[in-house]
Formats: sequence, structure tokens, C-alpha cells
Amino acid sequence: MENKYDVLVIGCGVIGAAAAYELSKYDLRVGILEKGNDVSLGTTKANSAIIHAGFDPESGTLMAKLNVRGSELAAEICEKLDVPYRRNGAMVVAFSEDEVQTLKGLYTRGTVNGVKGLRVLTGEEAREREPGLSPEVKGALYAPTSAIISPWEYCLALAETAVINGSDLMLNTEVTAMSREDDLWKVTTNKGEYFAPYVVNAAGVDAISVHEMAAPSNYVSKPRRGEYFLLDKSEGTRTDHTIFQCPNADGKGVLVTPTVHGNLLVGPNSENVDWDNTANTTAGLNFVRETAKRSIPGILFNKSIRNFAGVRATTDHKDFIIEEAAPGFIDCAGICSPGLSAAPAIGEYAVELLEKSGMKAEPKENFICERKRIRFNELTDEEKAEIVKEDPSYGRVICRCETVTEGEILECFRRPIPPVSIDGVKRRVGTGMGRCQGGFCGPRISELFVQEYGYDVTEVLQDRAGSEMFVGKTKEGR
Ligand SMILES: Cc1cc2nc3c(=O)[nH]c(=O)nc-3n(C[C@H](O)[C@H](O)[C@H](O)COP(=O)(O)OP(=O)(O)OC[C@H]3O[C@@H](n4cnc5c(N)ncnc54)[C@H](O)[C@@H]3O)c2cc1C
Repeated sequence: MENKYDVLVIGCGVIGAAAAYELSKYDLRVGILEKGNDVSLGTTKANSAIIHAGFDPESGTLMAKLNVRGSELAAEICEKLDVPYRRNGAMVVAFSEDEVQTLKGLYTRGTVNGVKGLRVLTGEEAREREPGLSPEVKGALYAPTSAIISPWEYCLALAETAVINGSDLMLNTEVTAMSREDDLWKVTTNKGEYFAPYVVNAAGVDAISVHEMAAPSNYVSKPRRGEYFLLDKSEGTRTDHTIFQCPNADGKGVLVTPTVHGNLLVGPNSENVDWDNTANTTAGLNFVRETAKRSIPGILFNKSIRNFAGVRATTDHKDFIIEEAAPGFIDCAGICSPGLSAAPAIGEYAVELLEKSGMKAEPKENFICERKRIRFNELTDEEKAEIVKEDPSYGRVICRCETVTEGEILECFRRPIPPVSIDGVKRRVGTGMGRCQGGFCGPRISELFVQEYGYDVTEVLQDRAGSEMFVGKTKEGR
């Protein structure tokens, strides 16, 4: 049966991609069903992009265990798969003696969780490491293993590796119903039916809807939105470490961090929303700005180049919900922060649960785990000259803010998961990430879609299906 798989993974954010990556190490037929037109379109593309050290989750929880393991695996995977990652270290700052006591509690918890190298610093020691910190900072927990990452490239690299190793990725394929017949799950989608004895539910904020297709509901979804400022590279060196404030009931609080792309990221707040509502609000952004200034008063918010928001898949459970919810059906639900950090460990754990459920998995002899791409703006002048000599398309700069060349864009069209939108190109090669936010390169990338895919220009998408760039309604509504 063409549509029969050993395992079907529902959703291709970082959790689905990590599960597929892990499964693709075995001789299994793996199918990934993703409702979006690309991978990494959900929460994975809109978060703080931190690989957390692991001192925050309660000891003994899945969150604690999988965060610490995932953070170790992330370093190795990013090295092998050429994903931007930097271990910049983090500090949690305290503004009062009470908060200094909180830091000591976090130190103890982190040590129990297995986090290496934690230290409690005085305010002066913290400012020696990070001179922009407020004079009000009375102490800090220093976590050297905290890192920053490109979350969408991480997801893409994991998914590409799964595809290279034989997994089938079905985009624009939304799961709408499930039933179990003769030890097989029948998974109904808008593109037809798929069958497998085992299913991994990695549908992010929608995991609860997918769960309810397979089993009675046993948790309540309570999504929480977080809003951000992304600042220009001129603010990117305002801090080298990721600066957290003491966590509270709403989570890890507002942070200030450099990004792997050289910008400064400030956020998030935490606000209940009905569902996947990623709108920005004046109140939310004002709160983020004023709270962040307590940590680093000198941030120049007039250098902001973009605001965005992401929605946490929070539930009424305090821990991740990773369990066999029905025979052969593994939930990866409630994957709020630190889900990005834990992702590869969640992938491993999901496979462990599938094996406990009876799945037979023989390791592949020839698992391919390598990936390389040219990042023109990081090359030396000699390397640039060499590559342009070999392929003149690397001599044509398409994104002037980030110096991304036509050669890099053409190369991403030929990768295992090619982009289908302007933002898809952005997530792959970094076009449109700079000051002009795609104003200059957008039309030129549209031309490349026309040239490479034979699209009519009216078909070029900004991002998701329905976001045609050159089609709009007239005033009369036609
Ligand atoms: C504000 C904020 C800040 C965060 N910061 C951090 C951080 O710094 N570090 C960290 O470790 N974690 C962080 N997180 C958490 C992290 O981003 C998430 O845990 C992680 O991205 C979850 O990935 P996912 O794959 O479960 O979900 P998603 O990325 O949302 O992917 C789910 C996928 O499932 C697809 N899907 C849904 N329903 C269906 C269906 N019926 N059929 C087919 N496909 C479907 C969706 O289209 C989507 O692509 C943060 C989260 C937020 C919101």
C-alpha cells in the first residue's frame, strides 16, 4: 500500500522534525504530515531562540531531564548539520535580596538537574562580565552552557536529514481525523488517507485537537502569547550573554539576548490567548520594553526593526505531556519552553516509547548526518573571489542588508526541502532579515521563483498559502 508507513509523524515544527530525524536512523518507513506549505511555520519560528542550560524546570520532571539532554545533543547536531549555534552563556539577574535567594534556589535546582558550571555572582562580578547591566543588579546566576541558535534552520536541518535518509515529507497535508482498524491507524487528511501502526503527535498548539482524534482528552490547552522586539545589528553587541530576570509564575520572564544573526532580541511577555493568536499589542510591547530596561537600561528601542509574537503550547499540566495516549499513538503535547532546547531528546524519548509499544527498529547502516551550506557573508575575500570564479551567481548580491547572493538562493531551491515562498527563502539563507526587512530583495527573489519554478508572478507567495504578493482586491472588492 503506497500510503502505508511504519510511523507517521504529525507536524513538522522542531519536535516533529526531531522525531523524524531520530526515526530516520532506523530501517523504518517514516511519513511526516504537515499542514503548512513549509516546515517550521508554527511556534518554532517565533521564540527566544535559546538553548536553555536547564536550571529552570522542576527537578525530576520530563522538562528537566529532556532539557539538559537536549541541550547537549543540540551542540553536537548543530556542528554536524551546520546550524548557527553559539554557546554565549546566560545570566539570571536579581534586583533584591529576595531575588538573590531565588538565584540560590535556581543554582541548587540546576545542579540537581545536571547543569554544568553554574555559579552565583555578585552584582559587581556580573557587571564585570556584562558592563551594560543595570547598577540595580544585586547578583546573578551564571550558566555557561546556555546557547543561542537559529531555530528555523535547526528545524529545517533536522527535517532535511530525515528526508535525505528516506522519510517522506507531505506538506500542505492537514490531519483531520484518525481511527484504528486492524492494528493500524487510519489517518485522514485533506490529501487522502495514510496508514501506520504508530503515530507521533507533534502538532504544537494543535496537539490537543490531534489527540482528541485518537483518544479522549485528558488535558486542557492554555496557550500563552509572547511578544518581542528585534533590534538592528547596531544594538547586537549591547550584551553578549543572554540576560534573564528571575522567573515568576508566568515563566522565565523578559530576556535580552544577542541572536546568532547578530541582532538583539528583547521579550517575551506572557499573556493568555484564545488560540494561535500571534498579533502584537501596544500594551504587550510597552511591558516588554519597560521590563527589559530594568536589566539593561541603555537599549536603544528606536533601533527596532521588527516585532513578532509566538504562542506557547501551555496546558493545565506543569510538565511536557509525552506518553502513549492510545495504542501506538505517542503524544508530544504541551511542548512549551524549553521545547526547542529539549527537541532532540524528545525525539529520542518518543522513539523509546514507540519501542516500548512494540515497534521493532533496526539501526540503519548508512545513516547520513551531514549538511553544509555556503554563507557568503562569512567568507574571507579570497574565498569569495574563488567561489565567484567558479559560479558567477555568487557575485550577484540579492539581499544588500545581509549580503546574501543569488548563488545561495539558487542552491536552496535545490535542497531536499526547497522553499515555496519569499519567507521560506528568508528562513533558509537569511534574505530580508536586515534593516529593510525585504523591501529591496523581495521583488528580486520573486523573479528567481519565476525563473526557477516557471511560476507566474501572481503565484509568488510571501509565506503561507493564500499570501500571494502581487494579487490584491480593488477598492470595489474585485
Ligand atoms: C514566546 C516563546 C518563547 C520561547 N522561547 C523558547 C526558548 O528560548 N527556548 C526553548 O527551548 N523553547 C522556547 N519556546 C518553546 C519552543 O518554541 C517550542 O517548544 C517549540 O517550538 C515547539 O515546537 P513544536 O514542533 O511542538 O510546535 P510547532 O513549531 O508549532 O509545530 C507544530 C506543527 O504542527 C503542524 N500541525 C498542526 N496541526 C496539524 C494537523 N492537524 N495536521 C498536520 N500538521 C499540523 C503545524 O502546522 C506546525 O508546523 C518558546 C515558545 C514561545 C511561544
